[in-house]
Amino acid sequence: MSKLPDIRTNFAEWYQEVLVQAEVIDASPTRGCFVIRPYGYALWENIQKELDKRIKELGAQNAYFPLLIPKSFLEREAKHVEGFSPELAVVTIGGGKQLEEPLVVRPTSETIIYSMFARWITSWRDLPLAVNQWANVVRWEMRTRPFVRSLEFLWQEGHTAHRTREEAVEMVMRALNVYKEVYENILAVPAIPGIKTESERFAGADSTYCVEGLMPDGKALQMATSHLLAHSFPESFDVRYQDADGSMRVPYCTSWGMTTRSVGAVIMTHGDEQGLVMPPLAAPVQVVLIPIYKTAEERSTLCEKLEQVRRELSDAGIRVMLDANEATTPGAKFFHWELRGVPVRVEMGPKDLASDQVVVVNRIERDKAQKKTMVAHGQAKAFVLNLLSTIQSNLLSNARTRMQSQWYQAEKLAEFGPQLDQNNGLYQTGWCGKAECEASVKTYKGTVRCILQEHNHKTCLHCSSASKSDILVAKAY
Ligand SMILES: [Zn+2]
Repeated sequence: MSKLPDIRTNFAEWYQEVLVQAEVIDASPTRGCFVIRPYGYALWENIQKELDKRIKELGAQNAYFPLLIPKSFLEREAKHVEGFSPELAVVTIGGGKQLEEPLVVRPTSETIIYSMFARWITSWRDLPLAVNQWANVVRWEMRTRPFVRSLEFLWQEGHTAHRTREEAVEMVMRALNVYKEVYENILAVPAIPGIKTESERFAGADSTYCVEGLMPDGKALQMATSHLLAHSFPESFDVRYQDADGSMRVPYCTSWGMTTRSVGAVIMTHGDEQGLVMPPLAAPVQVVLIPIYKTAEERSTLCEKLEQVRRELSDAGIRVMLDANEATTPGAKFFHWELRGVPVRVEMGPKDLASDQVVVVNRIERDKAQKKTMVAHGQAKAFVLNLLSTIQSNLLSNARTRMQSQWYQAEKLAEFGPQLDQNNGLYQTGWCGKAECEASVKTYKGTVRCILQEHNHKTCLHCSSASKSDILVAKAY
């Protein structure tokens, strides 16, 4: 195990290296793909659990649709096929024979899902219809980075159909709020809600809403999207229903998704020079117990006592493990679990055993004076529960503080552009709405991340026209 690259000066390498050393991923023989190892997958499973619960509360039920989609389906929606064509993986041979119709490995599932909606929606009584799919998708990306952009990734995609546009818009916003809430309350990652400009919109959508994050290196990360598809896909797939008055109508549709990119967001947002830092509510392991002994006899009595502590914490709903491994030293164990970002460590040595206490260590507390606390065994459960919740909220407030320090109010691109180019960061500015003014940010490798709800900047960042809305400009992952 080598030392991690310096997170402050070499963030990109730190990220690649920490993922491998902490056994979140491993390289795979397939270009642009990677293997998610059990520790990384456990984090994704915790994200899934939290998200799945909330998706069901939105009224969507889980279903599963085929991985392979007839190529002609994608061609039915002109903008959709134009947007996705460069990224498609296409199967042309099956069972050793040339296929009559090539099959596309799904880049997203609107086409196949709306072809089914056409069969399932015939009357206004069938609406609203809401399904969610947990699946893998493939997009032929050229430049890849684990979790952030890869050939294959995992996600959920929600798809809904409604009688009115208002109802569809409401669903789009509710889904977006779920994403923001999970990011902030579970993953402790601040999420900025906004709307995409036309050029950044999902191919085939009327409008695309998003939550954006700002990573410690000052680059923005699109963390989830929610699309108002309105009539585009339902019209292409002949989804029609008879309304209460007998007339035939087209439903308003939405789709929304959050991916394994969320794992990357967690790791980038909270990691430090010692490795990962897991937000307690998503951590695969929240507490690790480590016995500190010299003799085999000490080991056996300490492990016995710590097993009791483990049960007490586990009964309180804490994800806890006892590292009783005889083959490694306590120091090696500290290193191992700090690298994996376990939020709380509980140690016990012979002296602690004699006075029936434990030593509780906070993973994120840098000030060593406050890092370790002696806690009476009887108080350990309450203390640890409280500490986990403190760590959870401190991680979010630390991340918010950091984001605010890189979020600038700016007027003219010519003034803030060089700073964006050299130091990254998030720039809130005004925009007249013209595509050429949006494109001007490319001069400094920037992109317009989203249009904000608040409107403070009076003139356009590029031309002399009045600003129609505030936008966020940043380099993006
Ligand atoms: Zn302009």
